[in-house]
Order: sequence, then structure tokens, then C-alpha cells
Amino acid sequence: MEHLLEITMPQFDNSLAFAKKLDRNDPLKKFRVKFHLPRVGNRTAIYFTGNSLGLQPKSTKNFLSEELRDWAALGVEGHFHAKRPWLYYHKFSKKSLAKIVGGKPSEVVAMNQLTVNLHLMMASFYRPTKERFKIITEAGAFSSDQYAFESQVQFHGLDPQKAIVELSPRSGEFTLRTDDILTAIEENKNELALVIFGAVQYYTGQFFNIKEITEAGHEAGAYVGFDLAHAIGNVPLQLHRHNVDFATWCGYKYLNSGPGGLSGIFVHEKHAANFDLPRLAGWWGHQEKERFQLEKGFKPMQGADGWQVSNFPVLSGAAQLASLEIFEEAGMKNMRRKSILLTSYLEFLLQSIENAEHHFTIITPAIEEERGSQLSLLMKKDGRKIFKKITKAGVIADWREPNVIRIAPVPLYNTFEEVFLFTQFFKKMVL
Ligand SMILES: *Cc1c(COP(=O)(O)O)cnc(C)c1O
Repeated sequence: MEHLLEITMPQFDNSLAFAKKLDRNDPLKKFRVKFHLPRVGNRTAIYFTGNSLGLQPKSTKNFLSEELRDWAALGVEGHFHAKRPWLYYHKFSKKSLAKIVGGKPSEVVAMNQLTVNLHLMMASFYRPTKERFKIITEAGAFSSDQYAFESQVQFHGLDPQKAIVELSPRSGEFTLRTDDILTAIEENKNELALVIFGAVQYYTGQFFNIKEITEAGHEAGAYVGFDLAHAIGNVPLQLHRHNVDFATWCGYKYLNSGPGGLSGIFVHEKHAANFDLPRLAGWWGHQEKERFQLEKGFKPMQGADGWQVSNFPVLSGAAQLASLEIFEEAGMKNMRRKSILLTSYLEFLLQSIENAEHHFTIITPAIEEERGSQLSLLMKKDGRKIFKKITKAGVIADWREPNVIRIAPVPLYNTFEEVFLFTQFFKKMVL
């Protein structure tokens, strides 16, 4: 499988010296200083929530200052004469975003925010008919996605109870089996309009098999889309090759584009010139050459660009460019390699806690190609208390009701030593 980079997993060892050795040998170690690291009290925090809000690159300020400077100096003329002319700003991130999602530059465009983009994508790709009206998705999808699906179904005058099929893990299991997903798609094939999954499930950290789900969805005659909120910048993606119809993502999680940062979309090339697909239009999706003639009659651009609605948010876009520059330099392959090591090391240390199984269960898949840089710990007792204590000790992690702690060591700025120190605190708290 192509996610399987050739990694020789070292024999892990439960010692600070070993963690430090992994850090010394880390080809990405120089990237940590490119970020502002939050503090708790007078210490640098151990920040394990890059899956919720990625850290600020030190270069972000410069990128933003340049736009503020050009705005001050040029006013509206900045659309043409800024260092990065605002009129074309959506083009500047295309190459990097395309690489990260495994698409072509024409298949991606930065725009809006995630849930808005979900709606825009569903306006085109969820076109229920009397016969085909069902959506298949994972149970327990992020609330915003659930609201989007529910309201889209209602928008078409349908009943969410009948139209939305949510797949749950087998009893006693925490994640979905690919075979069960494929079977459910097959069983619903005569009524299926859309298959849509969070590529990496936000709660469990499960990385779904995009290739097989997409193939099955297409065989069933449905469109297939993915929410990449927790996948982009985290796991390897091949959206073009895997023939995914559409996807959208968050810019502020692993992509480090800042709070409320810019999202984007992927629309497969096969739909690039399909102007029969209905879309919710705006002037920024109109043919670029004629956009400023401001005339009647929407003529969409080819490719993902034709789904743009509003003019580009330059300040958000500038913050994103700062981050993408770092991604270009680090390379997704290197990040994935370190991410696998970091996460496996965390898993090893957690599992070597005495009687670990009495205190918590790791519900994230144990297989590397089925997860990214996140482990979700289902706490068996005193979960919230333990979480509060590790927060006090200077670890910024994430609590999810009713009793899950999510730990996300991010390859760009976290270290093996931090993973080691965290598990030392954690051990003291649970034992
Ligand atoms: C973070 C996240 C969101 C947030 O949506 P916004 O539109 O960016 O506010 C939605 N869905 C998923 C799966 C997420 O992880």
C-alpha cells in the first residue's frame, strides 16, 4: 500500500536517553524553532493539540505584515500591485495544497471555511432523486458535519431519519471495519446518492480506506466525498488517483493557518468542465477574464476555481502561505515518517504502563496505515480528573466527552522527549 513508507521501526526503549537519541536523529528537528510554542506558567507547554489548532509559524507575522503594508501603501491598487497581487491570491497556494491532498493544482482551491464548503460541495454532489436519496457516513461524525448533512437532506424536503445511514462499529469494537463499510454501501446501492466520511475520524483517529470506499461508492452509482479536517497535513492523500469526487478541509488544524483559518476544496478533474452540475454561484467562480464586466449570466471557470463564491480573504490566505512554505520545505513524506515513529513511540510507552488495560484503552487503530498522528485514550476511571492534572503539569491535550483524551504529537514541532515526558506524568496520574 502506498502509505506504507519503508520505515525500519527501531527497538523502542523506555528511557529519556533513548527519546533524546530519537530527537538527535530526527531529520525534521530543525522545524520546531520555526514555531511559537505556547507556555503554561513559566514553562514551555507540551503541546499535543495540533489536531485542534496548529501552532503559529514565526514567519506568519511577516506574511501578514507584507499584506498590511501593501494595503496601507496601495489601497485598492494592491489587487494588482501588491507583492502578491490580491486578485490572484487563490493561485498562490494551489501547488502546495495539490501536493498535500494528492491532486492537481486545477483540482484544488483555497476558500471559505470547512462547513460552508461542505454545503457548497453538497449543493453540487448531493442531488437526491426519488430513487436515490441516501447518504452513508460514519456514526458520531463531528457535529457540524451532522448538521450539514441533516440540513441538506431537509433542504431537499426529505427526512434525515430515512436518508442518512450512519455506520457504527461492531459491538465491543471502537472503529469501523472496511469490509463492513463496503457491505453497507453494497446493501444500499439502489438508493445511494452520496458516500461521505471524515477521512480521519476526529474522535477515534481512524484513517479510513479512501481508495476502497471510493471504489465501492462509485460501483453503487453514488458520488463519494471526504471531510479532510483531521487528515490534511497529517496523513498521505491521493485524492486524484483514488478518484474521489470532492473533498474539503480545515486550514487551522494540522495546516497551521491560524484560528478560523482558510479552508479549501478538491474537485476531481473529471468534473472540471461539468457545467451541468448545479452550484451555488458567486462572482469569484465566474470566468476570470469576464469577472469585472459584472454582467448577467454565470459562466463558471473550469476546475475547482469554478466553485469559488466570494473574493479571496487575503489576510487568512497570507497566514496560510506562511504555513505552506514550511510544508514544502519539510515534505509530507518526511512528516509522515516522523509521525509514524512519534505515534508508535507514544503507543509503546503508554502500553508499557503497568496494568495499562485497567486504566485506559487506546481506541485508535493499532495499524499504522489506519491512523495519523493521534491516539485517543478511552479512560476507564477518573478520566476528567487525570486530564485536569496533566493540564496542570503543562501538557495541552484535548478532552472529549464522555471520557476520551486525545493526544496528537505533531511531527513539525513535537519531540520524542515530549512524548516521553508526557507518558511519565501520565503514568504518575493514573497509577
Ligand atoms: C474541526 C472540524 C470542523 C469545524 O468546522 P468549521 O466549519 O471549520 O468550523 C468540522 N468538521 C470536522 C470533522 C472537524 O474536525
